[in-house]
Amino acid sequence: MKLTADQNTLPLSKNALTVLERRYLKRNSEGKVLETPADMFRRVAEAIAAAESRLGTGNDPQSLAAEFYQMMTSLEFLPNSPTLMNAGRELGQLSACFVLPVGDSMESIFEAIKQTALIHKSGGGTGFSFSRVRPANDVVRSTSGVSSGPLSFMKVFDAATETIKQGGTRRGANMGILRVDHPDIMDFIMAKRDQTVLTNFNISVGLTEAFMDAVESGGEYDIVNPRTGEPVKKMPARKVFEHIVDLAWTNGEPGIIFLDRLNRDNPTPHVGEIEATNPCGEQPLLPYESCNLGSINLARLVTPEGQVDWDRLKHIVALAARFLDNVIEVNNYPIPEIDQMTRANRKVGLGVMGWADMLILLGIAYNSPEAAALGEKIMKFITEEARSTSRQLAAERGAFPNHKGSIFDKKGAKPLRNATSTTIAPTGTISIIANTSSGIEPLFAVSYVRQVLDNDVLVEVHPLFEKLAKERGFYSPELMKVIAEHGTVKDIAEIPEDVRRLFVTAHDITPEDHIRMQAAFQTHTDNAVSKTVNFCNTASREDVATVYRLAYREGCKGVTIYRDGSRDMQVLSVAKKE
Ligand code: UDP
Repeated sequence: MKLTADQNTLPLSKNALTVLERRYLKRNSEGKVLETPADMFRRVAEAIAAAESRLGTGNDPQSLAAEFYQMMTSLEFLPNSPTLMNAGRELGQLSACFVLPVGDSMESIFEAIKQTALIHKSGGGTGFSFSRVRPANDVVRSTSGVSSGPLSFMKVFDAATETIKQGGTRRGANMGILRVDHPDIMDFIMAKRDQTVLTNFNISVGLTEAFMDAVESGGEYDIVNPRTGEPVKKMPARKVFEHIVDLAWTNGEPGIIFLDRLNRDNPTPHVGEIEATNPCGEQPLLPYESCNLGSINLARLVTPEGQVDWDRLKHIVALAARFLDNVIEVNNYPIPEIDQMTRANRKVGLGVMGWADMLILLGIAYNSPEAAALGEKIMKFITEEARSTSRQLAAERGAFPNHKGSIFDKKGAKPLRNATSTTIAPTGTISIIANTSSGIEPLFAVSYVRQVLDNDVLVEVHPLFEKLAKERGFYSPELMKVIAEHGTVKDIAEIPEDVRRLFVTAHDITPEDHIRMQAAFQTHTDNAVSKTVNFCNTASREDVATVYRLAYREGCKGVTIYRDGSRDMQVLSVAKKE
């Protein structure tokens, strides 16, 4: 059965139906779709509510399932893709984010590759720090040979991902991290200059404060061999920093993450050090941890009078926080180590999508101080409410097992059920399902072509823009065509000035505006914030360096930049003239 919007009682867009039908809905062995989107949401709601019986909370799973169903079908909240795909089904793997340890031995490296394969098969993404792997040309005692170094092993991970992607639920994604003080750092920074290699990896350099201080002062910093723990040489910090900037300017990689900052917010330092994040950078995790994410669609939380619906938001946060904790309970973990670690810390990542759309509905320009202030206020509210629910859940079901010794283990403080509660995810696919702007990103364009799920393309015109254009009487098919060619409405004189200000796109605003919004949300987010800072094609290397320094000063946990047109393949692009 081919699904169309008419056959479906849910408020789903055509693009949402396309995406759901391609990968999310249950199929039989002949590939025939066996469930409607409504069936899918029911399957998910029931599977997640079933945790209540397992936990013996005394809550009625059926009435909770009805609430979960309502919250998802109204598109006010959606869990990450693996939960939608796999809940209540045989695979039952519900998390989007994993970090695996890679030690300095063949056993450890190839064990991690096997574990990666199992995770990718189920739709999860994996992050690794390769910082413990001894550098290239170092000694290998057992063979009297020389080591091949972290980069050569990353290629094996990449090949494994490539091979299993056909059979999996979606394309596996990896994050590879190397500390800036690893001897192979200069090669790592260059690793993706050739755009045909390591295509299944995002790469980020793990920066330390010692390094950033040396960049500021123009000094040197120590390079350390992880095998011995001994400094082997010194490098001029600015030279390395400029090398990172140069490559990021060239084609967007490597990104950077601030390791000391991730560890300052590590809720369980007694359990381990944070060395890596998941593929898109928003979720720092300990080795063997997994995390399930879920995002509230802010565009659905605006009252008809054009105000933030705080009461409804409070209700949704509480319900979503319970939902995500239940996910941990019913999740089917790919390996026992992950099962154990995830249940011991119980990290969840509740975040938002539809932020740019909410701002449009409120009449606030994305690149205004008012927008950043509201972002901070909303995220503070969400984190406080999510923590409050986490405390209630702890009273009902017990604190997370590693609570003792954690940063929350203070005299008189009520314990928490979850070591972290909030994360801002990219919401790449679930924002299509919810027909809203992704994460906290500004609109990419008022009309654009979006590449999804491998090679499909979708053409989209922003629905709020079309609606407003009709209401205000400046709608015409010719004008929509002009906009599709431009992407932006900034310079189109027929469009009223206030509308042009409201529909600013990622390229209309400055990189500093991007960072300010990221920092505003980061202030009140337990984990990290997924955000891409967009630069125009003519931006200079110095512009990139300035943004990196600003992100560091403003308290961001990492930065991903992208200069328009700097890669052969772009995920998002403006519709081209015929
Ligand atoms: N992810 C992945 N493969 C993908 C997309 C996402 O492994 O093709 C993982 C990755 O860890 C990423 C996380 O899912 O950081 C969240 O991504 P996003 O919010 O875009 O996922 P969605 O739930 O919208 O599919």
